[in-house]
Amino acid sequence: MKKTKAKPRKSISWDECFMRMVHIIAERSKDPSWQAGAVIADERNVVVGLGYNGFPRGVSNSAFPWDREGNFENTKYAYMCHAEENAIYNANNSTKNCKIYTNLFPCNECAKTIIQNGIREIVYESDKYAKTSVVKVSKKLLKAAGVKTRQYISAFAKNK
Ligand code: ZN
Repeated sequence: MKKTKAKPRKSISWDECFMRMVHIIAERSKDPSWQAGAVIADERNVVVGLGYNGFPRGVSNSAFPWDREGNFENTKYAYMCHAEENAIYNANNSTKNCKIYTNLFPCNECAKTIIQNGIREIVYESDKYAKTSVVKVSKKLLKAAGVKTRQYISAFAKNK
């Protein structure tokens, strides 16, 4: 082979790439308290789905409250789809054996959806609700189902 002077560039890792994509898709969110993002990639590192937190498709962003506290019917929790759910709903291919990147450890409801859709690994950035029942239950479920979880903090998060 002919010798050349040019060397391949040192590129970012797949973890860094997908977690940066999580931050970018999260910026689509209208949620005043937390912009969540999720990216699903398959075993070949091909992106299968993207999602962010928001009201269901076709629902106006002013149709329901964005509040976190008060009567359930008056909180965003009653109406919002989570980033992980949306990434699965939007998937353009099977999510079987895929990994999902998120900027926040998934809730117990998303954990169920992740398990049932055959996703085998969760790469999360923040685990700020680790002490809540929601996240404790989520971790129990994921462990019982054999879904791997690991933390990866992107350069984007470090610069925020
Ligand atoms: Zn969730």
